[in-house]
Amino acid sequence: MADSKRKPGKRISRRAFLAGAALGGAGVWTVGVMPRWIFSKDPHRPPKLYEYFVDNYWFESAGMYDGQVNPPLKGRQRVDIAVVGGGFAGMSAAYNLARLLPGKRIVLLEGARCGYGASGRNGGIADVGEPGVDYVFETQGPEAARAYYDATRLGLEQIRTFADEFGVDCELELTGSTVMAAGESHLEYLIEQKQRYDQMGIRLDLIDRPELRSKVHTERFFGGLRNPNDAIVNPAKLARGMKDVIETLGVEVSERSKVLRMDPGSTVRLVTEYAEVLASKVVIALNGYAPQLGLFKNRILPVTVFAAATEPLSETQLTSIGWADREGLWDTRSDFMYLRLSADNRIVFGRKNAAQPARDLPAARGCALHPQLGWHGRRHEGRHALGGYPGRLGQHLPRRCLQRRGCGDGPAGGPDRG
Ligand SMILES: Cc1cc2nc3c(=O)[nH]c(=O)nc-3n(C[C@H](O)[C@H](O)[C@H](O)COP(=O)(O)OP(=O)(O)OC[C@H]3O[C@@H](n4cnc5c(N)ncnc54)[C@H](O)[C@@H]3O)c2cc1C
Repeated sequence: MADSKRKPGKRISRRAFLAGAALGGAGVWTVGVMPRWIFSKDPHRPPKLYEYFVDNYWFESAGMYDGQVNPPLKGRQRVDIAVVGGGFAGMSAAYNLARLLPGKRIVLLEGARCGYGASGRNGGIADVGEPGVDYVFETQGPEAARAYYDATRLGLEQIRTFADEFGVDCELELTGSTVMAAGESHLEYLIEQKQRYDQMGIRLDLIDRPELRSKVHTERFFGGLRNPNDAIVNPAKLARGMKDVIETLGVEVSERSKVLRMDPGSTVRLVTEYAEVLASKVVIALNGYAPQLGLFKNRILPVTVFAAATEPLSETQLTSIGWADREGLWDTRSDFMYLRLSADNRIVFGRKNAAQPARDLPAARGCALHPQLGWHGRRHEGRHALGGYPGRLGQHLPRRCLQRRGCGDGPAGGPDRG
């Protein structure tokens, strides 16, 4: 604006300016921050324990935002086994221990609510062989890699039988998955990968570009490698189902029971806000959170991974992208993208090594894949953004470490893996 057109007005003093800024800040706090602060004090919600509260489509679909959270454990308690962490690993350990050792007092201590960690907010692609099969192949050869693969395949099979046996509706779909070559040169990697699997006696199918185009209606990728053994699942529904089942098996599940301190010994002492637990054996199943308790600091690297879920696609949108097999999709970039359909036909996109919540994922990555969805320029097509802290282990291999105090670590895949 030209100086001559500027309206004459009073000069604002520095003090008045600061007072105005403070008032403005208070206004922003009242409107933007205070409701969230009050919200986080709601006793029926899990506490905002570890990171930003997630806007998690899976929680919503599993009724976990409104569902009852178990009360915290209180007082001095002697138990046979304490399981710390209510994700897939902890609940799977509790499930197996309760079945193997009926009559033992098993208490599961979960800081927020079961499934609150990575288990309730992941992509839900059950990818058999991950994360360590390549490493095992390289270091120990095809036979050992096949054994590793079969063990992880058993994990998926156990999710299936668990869901059948206990009537857990976790939207498990045995769809398979396809890795898509992001560049022409990446096709070589897919061919090598197929050859490796051939040596392990496992059949994967190479898909050329026209076939991939006809399957998922995309021009972006150059071909794919299909693994028919993979599946997709609603992770929060699985976690909720696991909690219900272990409770029926007699496991005492205490939620809102964050372990603040652990003193090892022949009897392990665990301290939470309201309880002191003396346990003969302890299973630590804290995944990427373990270093916060001072555990496995040199073995677990917490990484952040984010995902976003769109609104359900319309029939027209669904038809425009094909994807009739509904399989999980990945690409070959090191900063890879993965995506899958939910039971109500949302696309759940995930991104490895993302540094921030991912509402813009569908626009950023989905547009390249399916421009026909018309998401160009719509940065926030992602309806729900979620993320978490999975822990990376050296060589990506699950490990169990048994010490005098008794502990185990490693990522889990299902009710019987831990
Ligand atoms: C966005 C995202 C996408 C992913 N996608 C996939 C995928 O598609 N396929 C796949 O196989 N894997 C995926 N993963 C990884 C997978 O989710 C994890 O490997 C798996 O859920 C780990 O289970 P867990 O039980 O070891 O850990 P978690 O589920 O993290 O469980 C740890 C639990 O410990 C609790 N806790 C933390 N501190 C304390 C404490 N001090 N006291 C008591 N309790 C505590 C937490 O609240 C949490 O519930 C993804 C992860 C993320 C975050």
